[in-house]
Amino acid sequence: MSTSPWRDVSLTGWGRTARADSKAARPERQSALRAALESSNGKPVLAFGAGRSYGDAALNSGGYALLTERLDRLISFDSATGELVAEPGVTFETLMRVLLPRGWLVPVTPGTAFATLGGAVANDVHGKNQEAAGNFSDHLQWIEVLTAKGEVVRASAQENADLFAATVGGIGLTGIITALSLRLQRVPGNAAMVKLRRLPDLDAVVEGLTTPHPDTPYSVAWIDALAGGRNLGRGVLELAAPAEEPLPEQAVKARGLPVDLPGFVLSGPTVRAFNEMYWRRVPAGGTERPTHWRSFLYPLDAIHQWNRMYGKAGFHQFQCVVPQDEAPAAVRGLLETLGKAGRASFLAVLKAMGREGRGDLSFSMPGLTLAVDIPNRPGVDELLTRLERQTLDAGGRVYLAKDSHLSPDGFRAMYPRLAGFQAALKKWDPDGKFMSDMARRLKIREGGAA
Ligand SMILES: Cc1cc2nc3c(=O)[nH]c(=O)nc-3n(C[C@H](O)[C@H](O)[C@H](O)COP(=O)(O)OP(=O)(O)OC[C@H]3O[C@@H](n4cnc5c(N)ncnc54)[C@H](O)[C@@H]3O)c2cc1C
Repeated sequence: MSTSPWRDVSLTGWGRTARADSKAARPERQSALRAALESSNGKPVLAFGAGRSYGDAALNSGGYALLTERLDRLISFDSATGELVAEPGVTFETLMRVLLPRGWLVPVTPGTAFATLGGAVANDVHGKNQEAAGNFSDHLQWIEVLTAKGEVVRASAQENADLFAATVGGIGLTGIITALSLRLQRVPGNAAMVKLRRLPDLDAVVEGLTTPHPDTPYSVAWIDALAGGRNLGRGVLELAAPAEEPLPEQAVKARGLPVDLPGFVLSGPTVRAFNEMYWRRVPAGGTERPTHWRSFLYPLDAIHQWNRMYGKAGFHQFQCVVPQDEAPAAVRGLLETLGKAGRASFLAVLKAMGREGRGDLSFSMPGLTLAVDIPNRPGVDELLTRLERQTLDAGGRVYLAKDSHLSPDGFRAMYPRLAGFQAALKKWDPDGKFMSDMARRLKIREGGAA
């Protein structure tokens, strides 16, 4: 009887445009993880968390995928300091379920609770409070990484700092994160007080996001990406802070999307009508209401597998950040391009960023970040190429967690700390054991010191 942990699998990114046939192992123990790495027969290996990256960052065609979902133990929690030690497959959903009732909130979270903590380190994710709280890695004390040599190495800003900087945002290319220590934040209850304001155009939205708002550390704007002319960039601004009073706990009732939806659902008129309704649901004078953290932080999680809404062809998400000074004009230009192409769908989000990330390949920089879902239809390549060029011209960068289309030259120009990353890879993984479809597409290991 074969004892090999490897099975054939077909994996996709969340946008379902990128696919990979690989061999996958799903270890439950650290010892099994190490044994799986040893038995990978010289083939390239990559960790796979919850597959919430949209493109090919977590895919490794023809190689080996180490699924981390069963490495999901909370190892310890110190209720005096808020320090959590956990395995990489723990999800934000687990932290919400187990620690929020005890008064602890994860200080930085992406917009889905289904992502794993390992995936959050590897993309150095940001949340709706990036200006106030920085990135996920700003709250890490240390990580442990199973490196190409089969050793588990502890890394932090002080210890093996090069490995830390390369692993944070390093899209899995330095090794497998096996444990991490994260400091959680105390909150008075399970809710945020959310202020909603309906704003008529892009200038008003940008002003709303960039005017200092120290009492509301969370801010995000939904943009109607199909509105043009004087309505270009109109949107709904949400500002939020922890609420003092708790809300009654609701049972979590996530609904699934049972089938791929047909194309007409995403046709221009339907999306236009939805956007109009969504914008008008906020009264002209604004409104304020307590909202459970789960609903505020993870609005899309209420519909499981909502990615099927885009049909079998899937969709791309384009997310870029543009630096402060260029931001208003650059975002206007990007929205105009999207408007002309008539491609934007329901989801277009603008957030402010306040700081650079700590990782060599961290995405964040002070400025504005725009994220837009774009259905995968003929002409999408040209559109994404145009958006990449505009981002580059504004001195911005495209987010690797969402990407499936960036060019190698664009990547090199956008990520100026690549040389440091390549130097760390050369030291910790000289033979290129860890690999991904994204690394091959963007030629991340080629040139420079690698
Ligand atoms: C609805 C939605 C909303 C989102 N909102 C945001 C947002 O607001 N902000 C934001 O920053 N991102 C956001 N994202 C992106 C998402 O947070 C990131 O892609 C995140 O990394 C996904 O985590 P995952 O566990 O699914 O990792 P995967 O997508 O499976 O993997 C991501 C990367 O991490 C690596 N990796 C995973 N586990 C490990 C490990 N143990 N060791 C080493 N490498 C590992 C993989 O190799 C891959 O390179 C959103 C995604 C969705 C679907």
